[in-house]
This record gives sequence, structure tokens and C-alpha cells, in this order.
Amino acid sequence: MTFTHSLYPDNWSEIATSVKQQAQWRCQKCGLQCIPPGEKISDLTRSKRRVYTLQVHHWDRNPANNHRGNLVALCSACHLLYHRGGKSNVSPGQLSLW
Ligand SMILES: [Zn+2]
Ligand SMILES: [Zn+2]
Repeated sequence: MTFTHSLYPDNWSEIATSVKQQAQWRCQKCGLQCIPPGEKISDLTRSKRRVYTLQVHHWDRNPANNHRGNLVALCSACHLLYHRGGKSNVSPGQLSLW
């Protein structure tokens, strides 16, 4: 594992979790219902676990800016889309999975 949390604040997991809870574990772009960590899931779902993992995106792509207006809950597919534009200096491999 080489990705770094250095740009993220110490309480990032708390911030991210509350953003996801506020979104009711749905992607705020496509509406995909994601699975909260620790939720019991079927074997069928488990194989797609990553697809249903909700992530938190920074609109300005600055992980140090954690104002609520800068944060949005996205599924992994939508999240990747937002980072595919070429303007980002953060590669998906560097993203926090929280
Ligand atoms: Zn989505
Ligand atoms: Zn992002």
C-alpha cells in the first residue's frame, strides 16, 4: 500500500463518515445505494463490494479543504469520472478509500 493520508486531516474518517451518512449512503451523482462498512452483505454483493463503496470527493480536489460545501459522497465509478478530466493532480491511487 503506497497511498498517503498526509493531505487528509486526522479526523478525516469522521468527516467522511458523516458526509456519507448525510447522503444516506447514496452516491450524490447517480443515486447508487452503497453499503456502509460493517453491514452484512450477501456473497453476491461481496464480489461487487468495491462498486458499492461510497467515497467522499472534494470539489476543489484539495483534500485539505474539508468545508461541507466542498465535500460530496460519490460511488467509486462516479468518483473516478471526476478525476479523469486531466486537471487533477491527484491520481485515483492516492485517494483515501474513506
Ligand atoms: Zn455514482
Ligand atoms: Zn475525489
